[in-house]
Amino acid sequence: MISVDDARTQIINELTVVDTEVVSLDLAHGRVLTEDVIARRTQPPSNMSAMDGFAVKAADTQSIPAQLKIIGEAPAGGSYEGIVQPGETVRIFTGGPLPEGTDSIVIQEDTDLGEDSQQEGYVEIREVTPVGHYVRPAGLDFKAGTIGLKANRRLSARDIGLLAAMNVPWITVRRKPRIAILSTGDELVRPGEPVGPNQIISSNSLLVAALIQQAGGEAIDLGIAKDNEVSLRQMAVGAQSADMLVTLGGASVGDHDLVQSVLGKEGLSVDFWRIAMRPGKPLMSGNLNGTPMLGMPGNPVSSMICSFLFLIPAIDTLLGLPPRRPPLSEAVIAHPIKENDQREDYLRARIIGETGGLPIVEMFQKQDSSMLSRLADADCLILRAPFASPLPAQSPVEIIQLRADYPDV
Ligand code: AMP
Ligand code: MG
Repeated sequence: MISVDDARTQIINELTVVDTEVVSLDLAHGRVLTEDVIARRTQPPSNMSAMDGFAVKAADTQSIPAQLKIIGEAPAGGSYEGIVQPGETVRIFTGGPLPEGTDSIVIQEDTDLGEDSQQEGYVEIREVTPVGHYVRPAGLDFKAGTIGLKANRRLSARDIGLLAAMNVPWITVRRKPRIAILSTGDELVRPGEPVGPNQIISSNSLLVAALIQQAGGEAIDLGIAKDNEVSLRQMAVGAQSADMLVTLGGASVGDHDLVQSVLGKEGLSVDFWRIAMRPGKPLMSGNLNGTPMLGMPGNPVSSMICSFLFLIPAIDTLLGLPPRRPPLSEAVIAHPIKENDQREDYLRARIIGETGGLPIVEMFQKQDSSMLSRLADADCLILRAPFASPLPAQSPVEIIQLRADYPDV
């Protein structure tokens, strides 16, 4: 058996970064930028007002109240073409360009207009205004020709907004790594298909596909291979154009676990197939005729945790990004916990309260790795290192929070 860390390193070291493609901005969220992007616009393109009010010469507002003659309007998208002289002002709106001759904005709230003003066609300025007040100078946000975003960045919703403002309609990104998923097992049927009394629904492939998509990959479902040589061999052919093959189930050495023996004859070379972790011990890593392969155990909880630990960092690597680790945080355990054996343990648990700013966690009594309801209910995984000592209640523990409640921006 090898350690989780060694397994991760070996898997990652086998991978090469995928090539690039050009996509339009509306398809770019979550994609990995591969070139520095240069702004094609200066933003704002000229000095603009940040508020509704009056464009003035600041010098005209130094003794208040001041009466200024309104000589025109500068709305957003329009402009006042004349030159403003002393004693004059132009009505301006947020995003309107500053007319020539003005250098500041008096906000509407600091003026009197119409009936309140002493003279028709004039505005009364009630506040002394410094130069540049509420003015967004040209290029405040960014300047044309400068680098707006650097390469090797996963694009957030905020980045998409910036690229759009820079007038960049399409960009070069990493192609989505194609991850082929091959389920194995005579007992499996797809959701919605006719199902016999001893059969179960294949849940893993969809769970893993969802994680792949979330990590920035493209999941290709190759279907369900029967536990026989012909079926497995024929269906594995579908992995040829993939950047990685993930098999689900059949990874151990039982009579019905055929992945290693059958694909071995087809050219699979196996680097390792046992990891000191629970769940997920029979995880296989290898290469099938040039396609890197991860053979995951069939139990859904095992597949999910193996995906967290190995598949997501593998997708990061294929995308040319630093491989992520599941983020660890501190918590307090509500009950005593026994010592651990040689396998790193990932215990499904719920957060039941808070103490001193830390979550209090309680592991589920039943930790069977087939149980999807518990997995869906879990708030976190408690991480137990190999040979960790027993802990009394209220001890600090490390957890991986599981959350799907916040949009990725
Ligand atoms: P295996 O690794 O093939 O020995 O499978 C271990 C357990 O996981 C067995 O109980 C299988 O029925 C179950 N299993 C295998 N593949 C899947 C799948 N795609 N979805 C749900 N359960 C599965
Ligand atoms: Mg099986």
